[in-house]
Amino acid sequence: MVTAVVGANWGDEGKGKITDMLADEADVVIRFQGGANAGHTIVNQYGKFAMHTLPSGVFHSSTVNIIGSAMALDIEKFAAEMQSILDRGVPKPQILISDRVQVMMPYHILLDRLEEQRLAGKSFGSTQSGIAPLYADKYSKIGWQLNEFYQDDEILLEKIDRIIKQKNALLENLYHAEPLNRDDLLNWIKKNREAVREYVGDVGAYLHKAIKEGKNILLEGQLGTLKDPDNGIYPMVTSSSPLAGYGSVSAGIPPYEIKRIIAVTKAYSSAVGAGEFVSELFGEEAEELRKRGGDGGEYGATTGRPRRVGWYDCVASRYGCRLQGCTEVALTVMDALGYLDEIPVCYAYELDGKVITDFPVTKDLKRCKPLYKVLKGWKCDIRGIRRYEDLPQQARDYAEFIEEQLGYPVTIISNGPAREEIIRKP
Ligand code: GDP
Ligand code: MG
Repeated sequence: MVTAVVGANWGDEGKGKITDMLADEADVVIRFQGGANAGHTIVNQYGKFAMHTLPSGVFHSSTVNIIGSAMALDIEKFAAEMQSILDRGVPKPQILISDRVQVMMPYHILLDRLEEQRLAGKSFGSTQSGIAPLYADKYSKIGWQLNEFYQDDEILLEKIDRIIKQKNALLENLYHAEPLNRDDLLNWIKKNREAVREYVGDVGAYLHKAIKEGKNILLEGQLGTLKDPDNGIYPMVTSSSPLAGYGSVSAGIPPYEIKRIIAVTKAYSSAVGAGEFVSELFGEEAEELRKRGGDGGEYGATTGRPRRVGWYDCVASRYGCRLQGCTEVALTVMDALGYLDEIPVCYAYELDGKVITDFPVTKDLKRCKPLYKVLKGWKCDIRGIRRYEDLPQQARDYAEFIEEQLGYPVTIISNGPAREEIIRKP
């Protein structure tokens, strides 16, 4: 059976933790989109890890970990991350990288950085890891699928020449930077293809067989619905779809094989980078929540940037769950709210004097004001609780209010960063 673990919000909902937990029973874990731009935090018997490229199943030696074709593969970061987990005593994981995956080229990273500098204050808040330039090239049909790396020099040089003509025009004229050199690029390809050669294969064929054999397969999303290029807060979105449906494209499996879709949503809101965020908090209130959020505060797993925080947004999350095709909800980081006397929850927006509950397009979102229902806090530490009925009444009321607002069943409550800090909600 295929299960997807995906984000219902802006990312950083705690998908890594939920995936790592489910990976216990998974034969296969697949990262299906994005690249080294986002991070998943995983806390287990080996320590605390910020994973950017490797699938979250790498801590289970019996699990096969797949990099799907729709990902952006940064080979250098992949190799470094692999080495870092081996250095910390994790047994060598089983890895399969799609031979169709797009490869992050050094000029993608360079162009991303130069463009952010050029835009300065008007930037998209890119992590400058080359993601947008890579996907732009993919759809302009000048990207590099990993399989192409394993060809003769003359074929590689022919493509390099074609690409650098265009890139150098940009580099020299728009950014006033050094042009790319064909031999440097060729050498870069030849060196990097060796770092992953042993892992490259046909993911679709592998999964076709795995599904037939009844294997347990997990699709792991990155970011969340609101960063989807089609359905999110365009243009402050990511470059590949974080929707579960896209998992079937990247994995090369039929969409109807995805039977279970767990939408992960955090008990309050957080977002990195620019973009509309209706229930955002500022000042001291924000600082307090940021400090208490996540595991040691809401700071980016990739960049260390302070994350923007706010109250829980039912409008955005309901939309987030719907587009994911959510079959159940995991509500995470409940424990972080234990300090509050009262907890406001945004249940609707006010737009030009009207109350709306459907998430609008970005131009309208800019004018939306949050409408809050104020719930009672539970004022205690709920970490360590393992059974739903042992949660304080106010905590159950909070979870049940969100559940009712979302219209999807909350089945998992996470009350701590570690794998076992989980409550199954009946
Ligand atoms: P992802 O990108 O969705 O995988 O989420 P991140 O790992 O980037 O951010 C989630 C943060 O919350 C990390 O610091 C996690 O360790 C932490 N976390 C996840 N679940 C819980 C939880 O239930 N309680 C607390 N306190 N922290 C959690
Ligand atoms: Mg993250």
